[in-house]
Amino acid sequence: MTEDLQKKIIELEKQVHELEKDLIHDALTGLKTRAFFEEEATIYLHAVANLNAGKRKEWFGFKNLSFLFFDIDHFKQINDTYGHPVGDQVLHEVAQLINKSVREGDTVARWGGEEMVACLLGANEKDAKDKAESIRKSIEQLTFSNSQIKVTISIGVASNFKEATVANLLKNADLSVYKAKRTGRNKVVAFSELKD
Ligand code: GH3
Ligand code: MG
Ligand code: MG
Repeated sequence: MTEDLQKKIIELEKQVHELEKDLIHDALTGLKTRAFFEEEATIYLHAVANLNAGKRKEWFGFKNLSFLFFDIDHFKQINDTYGHPVGDQVLHEVAQLINKSVREGDTVARWGGEEMVACLLGANEKDAKDKAESIRKSIEQLTFSNSQIKVTISIGVASNFKEATVANLLKNADLSVYKAKRTGRNKVVAFSELKD
C-alpha cells in the first residue's frame, strides 16, 4: 500500500468516526440523539417484555421501564428576552442537569427543540414520578449566570405495559406533558392520571 493510500484510509476512518459521533450525540446539549434513543429503548423494551413473559433472564434484570418526556416551559420567552445564544446555554444546562439526575444505564436524549426524553430502567410509574418530581424541583432552583433567568419544566411519565411499544410509550408520555401544560406547567403528570 502506498503512503498516500494509507493516509487516505486514516482520513476516511476519522470521518466515519466523526459521523458516528454525530449520529449518537446531540451537539448543543451533549445528550444522545433521538435516533439513538429509539434504538436503545426498543432493545430495552423487548428485554423487559421477554423477562415478564418468562423468557430470557440472564442478561437483563428489569421488569419495569418508564419514559419521561420533558418540555421547558415558555422557552420562547427566554429566547425573546435574553437572545438565542442565552437560550442555547439554558437548554444545555437543563439538559446536563437531567442527564446527571438519572442512573448510569438510563438514556437521556434530545427529542427536538427544547424537548428531551429519558428512559429509566427498572422504574415503575411511582419510581419514575418521584424521579421526575425531583428533577422538576432541581430545575426550578437552577441558577444561571444572569440571575434574573428562571426556568421551569413540565414532565410527562409513561410506564411499560403488556405489548407496549416505544411509539406507544412516547405517545403516552407526550399526552401527559400536554396535560401538565394545560393545567398550569411546572408539574409532573403520569399517564395513569389522564383519565381524571
Ligand atoms: P410551552 O410552555 O408551551 O412549552 O412554551 P414554549 O415557548 O416552550 O413552546 P414553543 O413550542 O412555542 O416554543 C419552543 C421554543 O423553543 C421556540 C424555539 O425558538 C425554541 N427553541 C427550539 N430549539 C431551540 C434551540 O436549539 N435553541 C434555542 N435557543 N431555542 C430553541
Ligand atoms: Mg415544546
Ligand atoms: Mg416548551
